[in-house]
Amino acid sequence: SEEALGHAQRLESVGQLTGGIAHDFNNLLTVIQGNLQVLEELPALAGHEFGQQLVSAATRAAHRGAELTSKLLAFSRRQVLQPAAVDVAALLEALADMLRRTLDQRIAIRVQLPPSGDEPLAVLADPGQLEAALLNLAINARDAMPEGGSLTFTAAPATELPGAVRRELNDPSARHERYLRIAIADTGTGMPESVKERAFEPFFTTKQPGRGTGLGLSTVYGFAKQSRGAVVIDSAPGAGTTLTLYLPRPWAEAPEPADEPAVSHALPP
Ligand code: ADP
Repeated sequence: SEEALGHAQRLESVGQLTGGIAHDFNNLLTVIQGNLQVLEELPALAGHEFGQQLVSAATRAAHRGAELTSKLLAFSRRQVLQPAAVDVAALLEALADMLRRTLDQRIAIRVQLPPSGDEPLAVLADPGQLEAALLNLAINARDAMPEGGSLTFTAAPATELPGAVRRELNDPSARHERYLRIAIADTGTGMPESVKERAFEPFFTTKQPGRGTGLGLSTVYGFAKQSRGAVVIDSAPGAGTTLTLYLPRPWAEAPEPADEPAVSHALPP
């Protein structure tokens, strides 16, 4: 049945995830162990440039291991810990401020919001996870614009639910009034169809080894699902990329219970 197939695919994703982690960790531990062993056998090397290079490489590998663990923890977190009404306008302005101070100055960062005085821009989601998801998307946008460009955050009440969003929401009768749309658009490289199709898969990355974990978008996908929302990609090579989140607004009536068992991870279909 379709349900059994979905379950098998989810299990397969979990299997890929575990295999991927074991593989990445092994590589990192090999570097750390190997370099420390050389220094242990030749302690005099520590005073030389080559010895320092071994230390630096081991330190980098350890940092990367720590980064991988924290992304993994975010990915495998099973439920939204503290859903709350989040003021999206304030969150986007604060995030944009932080990014303006930290990203390449050739990236222009904008926030587009409806005129104030309109309906409040709030979603029901875990504030920390929402911020982490937006940060993940901003980092991807930056990576796609090595020569600079523009990064635009937009938030507004949804005026429609496109077909792809309806399918993700798994609710043919979902009403757009219940959702806020948060988009993050870049003017970067864009994605070919082959990348777009797989972008939400755990551990799928096109980045250099050591640059990407492939967990960013799968974490965002899991966050959207767990928040009873959706995330969709609009991208083409040369045309830039827009990731759009549809998240429930706090005053909407309680959504139907999700048909996923409570213990399962939210993984791409
Ligand atoms: P990572 O960033 O570690 O590679 P992600 O899951 O966040 O992992 O992204 C998966 C892949 O999707 C990236 O390697 C990249 O090829 C593509 N991608 C994600 N965001 C963008 C973007 N804004 N522009 C172009 N490609 C992107």
